[in-house]
Amino acid sequence: MTSVSAANADCLFCKIVAGQLPADVVASTERVVAFRDIDPKAPVHVLVVPKEHHGDVAVLAAADPGLLAEVVALADRVAGDLADGQFRLIFNSGPHAGQSVFHVHGHVISGARLGWTPA
Ligand code: 5GP
Repeated sequence: MTSVSAANADCLFCKIVAGQLPADVVASTERVVAFRDIDPKAPVHVLVVPKEHHGDVAVLAAADPGLLAEVVALADRVAGDLADGQFRLIFNSGPHAGQSVFHVHGHVISGARLGWTPA
C-alpha cells in the first residue's frame, strides 16, 4: 500500500482532477470522476478515480470504503451510459500487477464480449 493524502503535486491523475491536464471526462460526481483512457484496450475503456488522492485500491478501501463504493457505482453508470451495462472493473495494485499511476483508478472495460487473459 502507498500513502494517502488530499492531493499530490506530482500525481498525473490529481492534475487531471484539478483541470491542470486535459482529459475526456465522461461522468463525474462530487467525489469521483470518470475519463477515457488515453490508450484504450477495449471499445469502452474508462478510468474511474476518486478526486482525493489515494495510492491504490487497498489504501482507499481502508481509508474510505464508502468512496470505493462510489467509484464502483460510477463505473456501473459509465458502462450503462456508454455500453450495455456489462463491464469488467480492474484495479491494478502494485507495479508487478501493472499499476503505473499511483492514484487509485478502476479500469472500466466494456463494449465487447471479453476474453480472460490477464497474464
Ligand atoms: P495502470 O497501469 O496504473 O493500471 O493504468 C494507468 C492507465 O492510465 C493506463 O491504462 C494508461 O493508458 C492511462 N494513462 C496514462 N497517462 C494518461 C493520461 O495522461 N491521460 C489518460 N486519460 N490516461 C492516461
